[in-house]
Amino acid sequence: MKAQDAVSLTRTLLGFDTVNPPGRERDCAHRAGQLLKDAGFSVEFFDYEPGRTSVVARIGGSEAKPPLCLTGHLDVVPLGTRKWTKDPFSGETDGDKLYGRGTSDMKSGVAAIVVASINLSKILRGKNSPGIVVVLTAAEEGGCVGSARLAELPKLMGKAGAIVVGEPTSNYPMVGHKGSIKFHAHFRGVSAHGSMPQLGVNAIYKAAKAVASLEAFQFGAPAHPVMGGPTLNVGTMSGGSGVNLVPDAASIGVDIRTVPGMDHEKLIARLKEILGDAQLDVFSNLNAVWTEPEKAWMQRVFELCKPILNEKLEARTAPYMTDAANLLKVYAGAPVVVLGPGEAAMAHQTDEYCRMERIGQSVAIYEALIRDWCGV
Ligand SMILES: [Zn+2]
Repeated sequence: MKAQDAVSLTRTLLGFDTVNPPGRERDCAHRAGQLLKDAGFSVEFFDYEPGRTSVVARIGGSEAKPPLCLTGHLDVVPLGTRKWTKDPFSGETDGDKLYGRGTSDMKSGVAAIVVASINLSKILRGKNSPGIVVVLTAAEEGGCVGSARLAELPKLMGKAGAIVVGEPTSNYPMVGHKGSIKFHAHFRGVSAHGSMPQLGVNAIYKAAKAVASLEAFQFGAPAHPVMGGPTLNVGTMSGGSGVNLVPDAASIGVDIRTVPGMDHEKLIARLKEILGDAQLDVFSNLNAVWTEPEKAWMQRVFELCKPILNEKLEARTAPYMTDAANLLKVYAGAPVVVLGPGEAAMAHQTDEYCRMERIGQSVAIYEALIRDWCGV
């Protein structure tokens, strides 16, 4: 398979509607998995729910050194409310641009991972190569659910010594990203007639006081030299059922982005104190991902990227979350690079596109990273 094939594989993967919700990654997962199987990989499929399929494929392997993990997600976000001028699923092109939902985020990255892996399969199959493990996940969008479920299966996941995440960076090697805590807080009150508020307990007042406290919240954590400081945003608020009633229920939705070194459990305990008797429903809790740029493997990544990207490389981090936060639960201590052909600015946009030249570059970079890791 040549670099050109990664473009055509991107188009093939685009043709599978994996818009999440509902996801339906199964057919897309099986197509990618079959290609790897045909190239000699041992492939396992894992459905955390019917149709929500992830792929774990490995080749090579030795006792001396764990494999390199390459990972990407198969689901894509909904098309949005604005009308597309291009077909989101057929892979229309215009010059070097390939259009469609998931071209940047991140079926091009998945295709480049699969093609690079297949290209090197013959030499990896031999003994004494650490080998690679390809992890293609379901349900990354909206909370990294698929990878969270995979992280509960250490036997299936095995080991990995470093992780390459093919999320959109225009092939710039990013050394990490912030963590996140997302929660709803539900406030209870006592209903009464709007003309007699003294007889009730107003849940909206409780929520409003909590929102004011959250706006003034001080993390007390030092800013990270590359990522900056942690952030907190109250994104939703709802409550009450009629203007002439004392509301007995209100809730808020909060999104916190953390930096390396912050203790999420301690932070949640502090928030609980502020929120009083509110019921806290934490639906996403993922640590920040950070690899010291001076680390030997990261320096190798920079070196291997430099001739292909032709630019000076410095430590930068991605603005979004990735599955690496979950994969590190099973691949503890592994350095992580986020590097993929998509354009970060195109993720989740109407008329999403990626540049086909970047897909070929990604294949070359992934091959270089695999060869370097496996010494082949
Ligand atoms: Zn993504």
